[in-house]
Amino acid sequence: MSVPILTTKHMAMPALGLGTWPMKGAECQAAVESALGLGYRHIDTAEMYGNEDAVGAALAAADVPRGEIFLTTKIWWDKPDGPSFRAGFEQSLQRLRQPYVNLLLIHWPSPQLDLPSVLTEMARLQEAGLARAVGVSNFPPGLLKQALAHKIAELSCIQVEQHAMLGQDRILALAGEAGMVTTSYTPLGKGEMLEDEVITGIADRLDATPAQVALAWLLAKPMVAAIPKAQGPERQRENLGAAEIQLSEADIAAIDALPKNRRFVNPSFAPDWAA
Ligand code: NDP
Repeated sequence: MSVPILTTKHMAMPALGLGTWPMKGAECQAAVESALGLGYRHIDTAEMYGNEDAVGAALAAADVPRGEIFLTTKIWWDKPDGPSFRAGFEQSLQRLRQPYVNLLLIHWPSPQLDLPSVLTEMARLQEAGLARAVGVSNFPPGLLKQALAHKIAELSCIQVEQHAMLGQDRILALAGEAGMVTTSYTPLGKGEMLEDEVITGIADRLDATPAQVALAWLLAKPMVAAIPKAQGPERQRENLGAAEIQLSEADIAAIDALPKNRRFVNPSFAPDWAA
């Protein structure tokens, strides 16, 4: 199974990873251990998921050298300045039992976010080797532009909701210009899009599953990663198999043409997405 590697100056990220939200405790540990056993080498967690301890336990128990694993965590929006961000991240490292993560993200922007202050701290954490690469999540295009314009920290990644029912053209253009990876969260639309006739039709023809087709459509985009969450080994194996699916230009165009207005993750504290 060969998962493409997306490379920036600071990271080499396997394009397919395991999402871990909302798993916790022993269930999360077992899922991460299973995924690593199947060949996943990219694990996505966050301070807010309450599962960094379980992810850390899985990394410790797994028979895979740490150097082969790409680990992302994210710091919650209640830490809107450099000192609180650093303090939060240091606790994440402790829970993860890790000397470093491969990628550290601002989980969500908040109205209180002091962006230059957090970016400055991120650059320091990177310099110190505690975060090999840094980036942002849930930033609308205007805020991503601002973060890049500051030129304080070299951003390697933006993580946003993206799937066959929600496009991110403006983010992809900005990230592409900046040489950043765009990681797609909720890449299966929580499973809802797997009933779509266009997707099931392509899946039937290719002898693939709808989830594999939905993920392959994302992976066909340059510098785009996806982090589907699956608890059990069967779906984990199935999702990893998306890396082997080659969609034709016509299939890609058919999925491109589906309405792209279905956002599944839109909490009360979400930013103005059009900003
Ligand atoms: P996904 O699109 O990954 O969907 C997960 C759901 O799909 C689960 O119910 C899972 O069930 C099911 N599923 C998984 N594989 C298959 C399959 N092959 N066929 C059918 N159903 C399947 O949604 P998530 O919202 O979980 O997003 C993925 C990850 O993205 C999260 O786990 C998290 O790491 C990250 N994320 C980041 C956010 C951010 O703010 N930065 C916000 C939201 C998510 P089951 O597990 O039972 O198999």
